[in-house]
Amino acid sequence: MKEPQVFVIVGAGLAGAKAAQTLRESGFGGEIVLLGDEPERPYERPPLSKGLLLGTAERESVFVHEAGWYAEHDVDLRTGVTATAIDRAARQVELADGHRVGYDALLLATGATPRRLDVPGADLDGVLTLRTLSDSDRIAAQLVDGAHLVVVGAGWIGLEIAAAARQRGATVTVVERSELPLLRVLGPGLARVFADLHRDHGVTFRLGATVQAFRGEGRVSAVLLGDGTELRADTVVVGVGVRPNVALAEQAGLTVDNGVVVDQALRSSDPRVYAAGDIANAYHPLYGTHLRVEHWATALHSGPAAARSMLGAEVVYDRLPYFFTDQYDLGMEYTGYAPPGGYDTVVVRGDLAKREFIAFWTARGRVMAGMNVNVWDVTPHIEDLIRSGKPVDLARLADPGIALDDLVPVDTQPLAAGGGNRS
Ligand SMILES: Cc1cc2nc3c(=O)[nH]c(=O)nc-3n(C[C@H](O)[C@H](O)[C@H](O)COP(=O)(O)OP(=O)(O)OC[C@H]3O[C@@H](n4cnc5c(N)ncnc54)[C@H](O)[C@@H]3O)c2cc1C
Repeated sequence: MKEPQVFVIVGAGLAGAKAAQTLRESGFGGEIVLLGDEPERPYERPPLSKGLLLGTAERESVFVHEAGWYAEHDVDLRTGVTATAIDRAARQVELADGHRVGYDALLLATGATPRRLDVPGADLDGVLTLRTLSDSDRIAAQLVDGAHLVVVGAGWIGLEIAAAARQRGATVTVVERSELPLLRVLGPGLARVFADLHRDHGVTFRLGATVQAFRGEGRVSAVLLGDGTELRADTVVVGVGVRPNVALAEQAGLTVDNGVVVDQALRSSDPRVYAAGDIANAYHPLYGTHLRVEHWATALHSGPAAARSMLGAEVVYDRLPYFFTDQYDLGMEYTGYAPPGGYDTVVVRGDLAKREFIAFWTARGRVMAGMNVNVWDVTPHIEDLIRSGKPVDLARLADPGIALDDLVPVDTQPLAAGGGNRS
């Protein structure tokens, strides 16, 4: 009799957990081993910088599945277990405790690790980063009325932490190297919306500033900036981006270049090894280039896509990047891909000052990306506009009186994969 197949997933985050679920839902009857180095079962990270810091989300709500789900679905979830190497010739994963797990197919979904600042004092107590549940608990405990918090890095996570901290009564200073928060992602016009939002809620920005050192005896008490200014700090959160956890892939000799390089079926340079989520630098057929996307929706959808691929299905992972954030009373969704240099004109439909609008990044009249702020249920239309690849009339695009539907060229194919909506 044929031995049952063994599919191993390294990384018990959202992508890994959703891949396991898809394998079972697709009728895979072999063994599924899901290895995670954190103590908890798989959970979602967005609430870690939002509801959990604010105290408005239940801790139990972050988990991808109920505690009993893994046993019920015969998924061998091993938490607190680190995979240390891949022996591709023997088709085995080596674990920190010396054990080996054989695989017929392997999915790498190891996520990312926050970058740290290489400056004096970076190891002081109270200089924190945010990636895990325990990081979130640690930060939440510091967000008390009157506490002085310094956030280094005005990216999405830094700004979400700043928002939560202000709402909890902390005094917040955000230190950012660029001249505006989110400048690189949004460009100056839209970045200003987020700067104003935070200023209106009492955040102080130190823009165009660099951190020279963290100061304190044992615990941080101040942040020294490049211009000699010292900022009082009871706690510092460093949010200067993440690097993909590719050590295993590198050790295994897979092609790694800004993440694990995979094709549109999420297959790596070894056809038995796949990658999904934050680590996957996947070929995107629509953009005709590889994209590595560090977003929740990518983990949610690429994990299942990789699972289908492992089962032998013809997979083309072509979802558009999709991201959301919530800060104070601003809710936003961003769909598409418009890196600096990848667009020429930003078109706004709606009211920037009221923070109720859709912004479109366009290149030669084509919509590359769209961001809806406090405007809802438009993601599918934005996706259609992007996928059409056809120029639209920018004056009509800016006119809220014209339905977005009416702007989509008639011969646009409906989205094969559906929207990346968070609902
Ligand atoms: C605080 C925070 C807020 C966020 N908010 C948003 C948001 O609002 N919107 C949005 O779109 N995205 C958001 N994101 C991004 C989103 O959460 C990530 O893109 C998503 O978690 C990626 O999922 P993943 O499964 O690829 O990786 P992860 O969730 O990082 O899971 C990977 C797991 O693999 C484990 N692992 C790594 N190496 C090994 C090993 N060798 N052996 C065993 N286990 C290993 C890791 O410890 C981790 O548990 C946020 C992220 C953070 C940190």
